[in-house]
Amino acid sequence: MRVVMVGTGYVGLVSGTCLSEVGHNVACVDLNEEKIKLLKDGTSPIYEPGLENLIRRNMEHDRLTFTTRISEVLGNADVAFIAVGTPEGEDGSADVRYVEAVAESIGKLVERNLMVVVKSTVPVGTCDLVEETIQKQLAQRQSNVKVTVASNPEFLKEGDAIGDFMKPDRIIVGLNDPEGQAVFRDLYGPFVLDDQGKLLFMDRRSSELTKYGANSMLATRISFMNELSLLCERLGADIDKVRQGIGTDPRIGKKFLYAGPGYGGSCFPKDVAALLKTGEKNAVELEVLNAVTRANVAQKNRAADKIIAHFKDLNGKRIAVWGLAFKPGTDDVREAPAKTIIQKLLDQGAYVVAHDPQGQGNFAREFGDHERLVYADSSYEALRGADAMVLVTEWSEYRRPNWDKAADMMAGKVVFDLRNQYQSQELHDRGYHYECMGRPDSK
Ligand code: NAD
Repeated sequence: MRVVMVGTGYVGLVSGTCLSEVGHNVACVDLNEEKIKLLKDGTSPIYEPGLENLIRRNMEHDRLTFTTRISEVLGNADVAFIAVGTPEGEDGSADVRYVEAVAESIGKLVERNLMVVVKSTVPVGTCDLVEETIQKQLAQRQSNVKVTVASNPEFLKEGDAIGDFMKPDRIIVGLNDPEGQAVFRDLYGPFVLDDQGKLLFMDRRSSELTKYGANSMLATRISFMNELSLLCERLGADIDKVRQGIGTDPRIGKKFLYAGPGYGGSCFPKDVAALLKTGEKNAVELEVLNAVTRANVAQKNRAADKIIAHFKDLNGKRIAVWGLAFKPGTDDVREAPAKTIIQKLLDQGAYVVAHDPQGQGNFAREFGDHERLVYADSSYEALRGADAMVLVTEWSEYRRPNWDKAADMMAGKVVFDLRNQYQSQELHDRGYHYECMGRPDSK
């Protein structure tokens, strides 16, 4: 099939590349000239394991192209995806202006029957809006081209995005007219060869809401476990044991039960906020979700407060921070807990030396300069002269530090393990002060 993918961010670029990998002909469009220039040279503008190789391979086979001009590629397309950003607006609702802008361009340019697929995470009713916007343009041009609008939210996880897209648990497609199903069977058939039942068709509104429901459910699990971890600290229980005990119940499952410094990323905070706004607009009080957000803000602060409480006075203290991306495997730092934590440490007068294998550039750009914030070239370099180390993101390279080497480099032997990666005994044996989240030895 001939596919146009509008938006080459974390979702659009992975989706477009994986669609080309199974043989579709994909043209990716982005307004950002710098990104398109890099992509045309075979360089991925984002860090996602395996992505760059896949991009190059499919470019070589002429199945994947890049452009800044939708007008150059829409003419031939059977399917056009909208995968642009839907950032949090000032009032918490999702800002769909970029989605609308693409819909308007499609309406102005489309010359043959087209399936328009909204892949961006959008509030319920946005596909209706996209349809109206396109129909308005078609009416103005007196065009009788048939454009169908479908919802197809994306569930990939940054860091595992290729695997998630190539081997999905399910693909949700929202269509108001079942006639469009054939297009999706064709498009996604190669991804569900093992089980065609993974292709779930439903109406558009249910599909739009499914995405918010899924992310909000995952955020709820995290906030709930973080609150339980606090209770563990007060009661002398171990959140890791409690997690195992809970997660082995098949009704609950093992995933998304880890205590930590609060959830971040480009999706959970904004999608939870957007669903709360949808509730408010429809006079439905989403009390659970309100509490999830409050608990998450509290958790991010609590993580920093542990460090502040230990030192009492952070003025002039040097703190090494390992991990800036909101999770391992990505360079995405949007809403990363590291931001809240580092800001609080700086506010208290600390010097921060930060390290992240992939996220330093994005973090520096988004966080901005601060005279007491510097970045280190390696994780151990960050430890030089540090009074404490804080593990914020559990990159694999941080999982098994050489504690003797670390002790030689650090000024103080203090470790705050916000991801429960290390064994307290091992650190105690070497004379470290060690704190983690919701396990014995935590404060
Ligand atoms: P992103 O910010 O990384 O990328 C969006 C891209 O769209 C940018 O490159 C931007 O330049 C481009 N763009 C904006 N307006 C455009 C236009 N008119 N024409 C062409 N390009 C345009 O965003 P993302 O993280 O890929 O997310 C995209 C959508 O997918 C969002 O709605 C997000 O909520 C959703 N989503 C994201 C993830 C994730 O893990 N990042 C997962 C599932 C769903």
